[in-house]
Formats: sequence, structure tokens, C-alpha cells
Amino acid sequence: MAELRISAKNLGELARPEFCPRCFWLKSHARYLPFQIFPGIFSSIDAYTKRVIHAWMDRNGGAPFGLENLGDVAGYVDPTRYSRFMMKVPEHDILLTGAPDEILTFRDGSIAVIDYKTARFTPAQDRLMPMYVVQLNGYAAIAEHQGLGRVSKLALVYAEPVTDERTAARPEIHTDDGFTMPFAVSVHPVGLDLGMLKPLYRRAREIYDLPEAPEGRKGCQDCERLDRLMLLARKL
Ligand code: SF4
Repeated sequence: MAELRISAKNLGELARPEFCPRCFWLKSHARYLPFQIFPGIFSSIDAYTKRVIHAWMDRNGGAPFGLENLGDVAGYVDPTRYSRFMMKVPEHDILLTGAPDEILTFRDGSIAVIDYKTARFTPAQDRLMPMYVVQLNGYAAIAEHQGLGRVSKLALVYAEPVTDERTAARPEIHTDDGFTMPFAVSVHPVGLDLGMLKPLYRRAREIYDLPEAPEGRKGCQDCERLDRLMLLARKL
């Protein structure tokens, strides 16, 4: 069987309560799916969050916005040091990949892996938490494998747009060429447990190796809609 190349985030799909093996099989075999448009603005804001935090750290030392509660922050790892962020899992012939948003360094020599989210922390975000936990633990495994340091902390950093009327009316929001939007930042530590990855590697491999797509998730009607679309397309 071919090597299974999978991102830590996609591996995290297996931990979601609403995980669908059919979806997983289809996504792993057809690497490019239609109707997968993701607005680029969120990546831009995540990158901006990172630049704001780096600028603050360069100017003041330590870390802002509650990140300092994670530990005695010394700085951050230059992102060029982890531009090819991946590791082989030979036991299951898997290539685990990822792209961590941030790696902070602590004065005790350990590191923290951070993922930025441009979102409000809502119950919907909470439902995605099992996936994010695996994603961050996957990044931690790769970081240690690549020798970036011993991982001692994982965290999600939410940057929530502040859009209420009072904020929008503040004079400093209006600029000569447009307006600015403040963000409220909150830090959510995530449990470190690299042992959780092993059964997920095994399960990912099992599903990937199936000769055909397994049954879909009960109650999901999208596959039926897809069948109807395909029937319709044949009639055109
Ligand atoms: S059942 Fe739903 S989740 Fe599963 S493959 Fe079909 S559309 Fe995707």
C-alpha cells in the first residue's frame, strides 16, 4: 500500500464525535475535492496576529495577551527553521505533516506549540476541540522529532473581532483611508499527550487501506444530495 500523507489536522478528524470514515476515505484518496473554498482572510488575520505578537515580544520581551501565563517565555522560533514540518511514522507508513502557527521558547529550554484562530470561542468551536487537541499534539510530535525542543505546553489563541456599536463609534477606529477593527485575544491551554496519536495512526491506516469507500455517517444527508447531483448531471 502507498504511503499515507496526512496533516495533523486531518488526523484530528478521527477524534471528532461526528467523524465519518467515508468522508475520511474520500478525502485521503482524492486529494483535491470540489467546493472546498476557504476564504483567505482568516489566514491573513492569523498571520497578522502572529506579527503583532512578535512585534510586542521584540519590543518588550516576555509575551502578551495571557501567553505569559503559559510559562517564562524567552522568545519565538524563527518560522524558517520549521518550513518543512513533517515526520515519518514508519510503523504505519504514514507521513504526518503540519504547519504550526507559532512556536514559543521558554527559559527552561522547552517550547510551546501555538495555533491561532480568528474566531469567537463558541460552543461550535468547542465541538471542534477534539480535532484541535490532536492537531496540536501532532505538531508537538513533529517538533520534537525535528529537534526543535522538548514540548512542554500547547495552546490555542483565539483572536475575536470586536464589532459592537460602541466600538465602531470610537473616533480612533476611523482612519484617513478606512477603519481599524480591534481583536480580543484569549489563550486556551491544551493537554499534552503524545500517546493519543498512536491509535489514530492505526485507525487512519485501516480506513485508508480499505479497497472502497466505507459507509457514511448515519443521519448525514450530503451523500444523498451528491448522488442526486450526479444523477442530474448524467441527464444533462
Ligand atoms: S455521509 Fe456525510 S460526512 Fe460522510 S462522506 Fe457522506 S457527506 Fe461526507
